[in-house]
Amino acid sequence: MSKKAANDLQDLQYFGEYGGVNPSISDSSTYTFLSAKTMFDTFEGNTEGCYLYSRHSSPSNLYLGEALAAIEGTETANVTASGMGAITAVILQLCNAGDHIISSRTIYGGTYAFMKNFLKKFNINTTFLDITDLESVQKAITPNTKMIYCESISNPLLEVADIAALSRITKENNIPLVVDNTFSPLSITPARLGADIIIHSLTKFINGTSDCVAGVVCGTKAFCRSLKDVNSGAGMLLGSTLDSLRGASILKNMRTLHIRIKKHSENAQFLAEKFQEDGLRIVYPGLMSHPGHLIMEDQMNPQYGYGGLMTMDVGSLENANALMELMQERKLGYLAVSLGFYKTLFSAPGTSTSSEIPIKEQEQMGLTNGLIRFSIGLDDDIERTYLLMKECMLELGILNAKPARN
Ligand code: PLP
Repeated sequence: MSKKAANDLQDLQYFGEYGGVNPSISDSSTYTFLSAKTMFDTFEGNTEGCYLYSRHSSPSNLYLGEALAAIEGTETANVTASGMGAITAVILQLCNAGDHIISSRTIYGGTYAFMKNFLKKFNINTTFLDITDLESVQKAITPNTKMIYCESISNPLLEVADIAALSRITKENNIPLVVDNTFSPLSITPARLGADIIIHSLTKFINGTSDCVAGVVCGTKAFCRSLKDVNSGAGMLLGSTLDSLRGASILKNMRTLHIRIKKHSENAQFLAEKFQEDGLRIVYPGLMSHPGHLIMEDQMNPQYGYGGLMTMDVGSLENANALMELMQERKLGYLAVSLGFYKTLFSAPGTSTSSEIPIKEQEQMGLTNGLIRFSIGLDDDIERTYLLMKECMLELGILNAKPARN
């Protein structure tokens, strides 16, 4: 993250209605006007600082948006009721019937299903490709292409997108680069690398307590305003509105994000190195063996590390299921989807978060049956966690005990 964005976040200071250190929560769906003219002007989007109706905007959601724009280094941000609420609104704002999208083939299963299946209703077609193959990205552009879409670190394969290179392509072709940065908040600042619109599922690391679902679109004032337009804004008209109470609680959790991300990264780096040394097939952007390691190194904000996500291939779905069940029994984390929680979460993406992707396509992209995705937690004693996880693997024969040296 540029130092400026880090400092912008640190400098954000709010005063509650009665001088509280937290901003007051706006507990209203609608707002009064002293003059009918101001109400009309607000409807038309011509008044700053006036609230109309909480689906349009609310003070609590604006505070949260301000903090998110600060970490992403964008002009502004609109919060939404879920990550999918942000993704679908952006896509439908940018694309008309008959348009074309270029997307990474390894993305969150829900986004993939929306592009592949739902957008058929509007005859919007998506070319899914290997986003690290820049030549094929360039070749796929047609006169109808309205956006290039990727995740900075992809779900679930942890591919690293070369955002600066992709943004050179989008700029040459005058189309926006949309980046879902859910897996790498703070570690990567896509706007600094040339991305135009940045999306997060706040449900994950940014909120960090796995107690709610929320999302955000970070971008220019003009784009975010267009999403809120009462006549044509996908945000306003599709109605994915975050409740103010949740907006306020996410803002409070965000204040520890920098500390949490550092710890998630430190723990994940430790486990990735140890299990790789043990001979397991580990994918983690912080390992030299990761094909995107150098790109990651080039585009990351090093103080936050390589993130909390790691995958491990244990050979078969049976092995994966047995290991996850045993680790949960031993209190090493939860067999659960999602990420960014204080406890480690693990799931087999082929049968859960990526099950929307047909098996044949899963195979083509390298999503194997035995793959486990880990969101590494904030464990204080990660060495102990490593030893306990290893014990589970030895018991199940996923790892073989090394013969004792003479
Ligand atoms: N983007 C990514 C990378 C995700 O992993 C997810 C959910 O898992 C989403 C978006 C969707 O977010 P939400 O569940 O908040 O709608």
